[in-house]
Amino acid sequence: MTITYEYEGALYVNLTNRCNCNCEFCLRHGKKEGSIYTEDSLWLEREPTRQEALDSFLSREVGSYREIVFCGYGEPTYRIDDIVWLVDELKKRLGDQLPPVRINTNGHGNLIHGRDILPELHGRIQTVSISLNANNASDYVALCHPVQGEVAYQAMLDFAREAKQYIPHVVFTVVDQGTAPETLEESKTIAEKLGVELRVRSFIDS
Ligand code: SF4
Repeated sequence: MTITYEYEGALYVNLTNRCNCNCEFCLRHGKKEGSIYTEDSLWLEREPTRQEALDSFLSREVGSYREIVFCGYGEPTYRIDDIVWLVDELKKRLGDQLPPVRINTNGHGNLIHGRDILPELHGRIQTVSISLNANNASDYVALCHPVQGEVAYQAMLDFAREAKQYIPHVVFTVVDQGTAPETLEESKTIAEKLGVELRVRSFIDS
């Protein structure tokens, strides 16, 4: 079972395969052969306990990585309590040597938990990377299929807006699958209105 893995100098953490979405481009579909993200090992036979995840971290030189990224083959905020615990445990051990921590998320953490999780990220998470993916709710649902339907789009935008209060670096991402330039421009405008940076990423990018 792969809990932590290296990718381009960062340490990625795979705590859950659960997700409330089923994006057309999801790497869980294994469409990009040869990518680390399509390896069977990223499918968890069960979710690791927080202690197993901590042990996986501590089997490595955690301070040697440029960044720690809670990502996985699923939506990491399902395990927000464990992420908070893990960051605190790592801080106790590594102090200032702890690399910056990022969460790659669909921005539905508040929707999933029915509470505001963002204050808990303050001082623990340096970057939150949120998948924007579409410029309106109906396109979003057609692409990402959130179980909550169209409300998930606004929930994601609200999450990004509020995240800026607690997290120094908030980024939107869109996947470029030959996307029209005007569509990317629209995404940029949405990001600018919320004061969030936009990153256009390729299919297998992190
Ligand atoms: S939100 Fe992420 S993990 Fe969930 S289906 Fe979409 S791409 Fe996959």
